[in-house]
Amino acid sequence: MKYASTRDPSLAASLSRALTEGLAPDGGLYLPQSMPAPGAHWPPGGTPLGELAPPVLAPFFADDALARSLAAISVEAFDFPAPLRAWQGVPERLSLFELFHGPTAAFKDFGARFLAACFARLQATGEPGCTVLVATSGDTGGAVAAAFHGRPGFRVVLLYPEGRVSPVQEHQLCCWGSNVQSLAVRGSFDDCQRLVKQAFARADLREACGLTSANSINVGRLLPQLVLFASAALEVRDADGGPANFVIPSGNLGLATACCWAREIGLPIGDIVLAHNANRTVPDFLADGRWRPRASVATLASAMDVGDPSNMERLMALYPGPGALSTRLRATSIDDATIRASIGAEFARTGFVPCPHTAAGLATYRQLPEADRRRGHWVVAATAHAAKFPEIVEPLVGRHVEPPPQLATLLGRPMRKQRIGAGLDELLAVLAEAACTP
Ligand SMILES: *Cc1c(COP(=O)(O)O)cnc(C)c1O
Repeated sequence: MKYASTRDPSLAASLSRALTEGLAPDGGLYLPQSMPAPGAHWPPGGTPLGELAPPVLAPFFADDALARSLAAISVEAFDFPAPLRAWQGVPERLSLFELFHGPTAAFKDFGARFLAACFARLQATGEPGCTVLVATSGDTGGAVAAAFHGRPGFRVVLLYPEGRVSPVQEHQLCCWGSNVQSLAVRGSFDDCQRLVKQAFARADLREACGLTSANSINVGRLLPQLVLFASAALEVRDADGGPANFVIPSGNLGLATACCWAREIGLPIGDIVLAHNANRTVPDFLADGRWRPRASVATLASAMDVGDPSNMERLMALYPGPGALSTRLRATSIDDATIRASIGAEFARTGFVPCPHTAAGLATYRQLPEADRRRGHWVVAATAHAAKFPEIVEPLVGRHVEPPPQLATLLGRPMRKQRIGAGLDELLAVLAEAACTP
């Protein structure tokens, strides 16, 4: 399998190169040159993720040096579950898809751990890549830090906007030490992203530090997410005989793209509905066909505050032509007032506290026409644990939300952060300090 750029399809790369480069040389996103033919025989529902991943991902790894390590990568990366939980608060068949059982309690852990397991093998085969530079607005940085922490040969440098991530998120970004350095940038998330791009534009630096990225546009973070949707869809197929319909809390559209790819390779997936927050770029596009990216607005579901989602390029490439996308996907926009009401109401019905992103998903489900809700089995992705957002959820449900054990462990570790300004020089000085000798 070769991977082509969304912009210039003649720029093709092996999977290993697509993983190392992250972004194609023309600024496009890598996607499979042709989607694998739909598989006919899938493993039974309930197969552990680590065993399910090799048959689902084999065509995406075909002909690559990493193919022979796929089984080992899968077992290493998928070492925590993604259970489906029957949702009691409705008369229809609805399940919550719990994607928050990883070390940092959000679904980003799956992609980050898989990518880290791939990078570890690539380095062993002589590919460059020893300083992982990441700009984060919250969940990604913690997941990447957790995935690379203590891995010999890797150094992680995280940039986040000081004062603009939640206290729990900041703790998750700064509690690592050893080979992980967390830089609180005096600026916005856009400043952090600009610094990363400027660093990558310096060929000397890329060379000296073996600079690489673990941003969500990396195809190595999308592929493991296919396995999640395969797992839920096969479980629903075995239980109900029909396909699973998904509601997906969405921002940069990485999870959504993975679900669409999973449907293309023949997994039993029916409708896909994207739950966005007040950042309406995608719902507006599906409504009128005009692509109008815009600056993001801050919402309670901050991990979805994206006004110009990068993965839209991949979705447009998958369903090309005017209006094609809107026949394959639906999208809603859920405002903060509805997110708040949803957290309170779902807690009152079921005793489960959804995080703000998951609450946008549940609100989207409740807004579906009744005929749709009654048709088949719906699955709402629960993308993070509510304990990551105590200042939002606790006043709404009137009680303390206990962090899961793995999150509590992180919150018990001391924080170490370093402040830098938003200019490139300060970042360069940090990178030079201990270049590539973690
Ligand atoms: C990243 C994130 C999302 C959005 O996922 P995308 O793949 O960017 O669409 C939703 N919820 C949570 C908790 C996240 O961390």
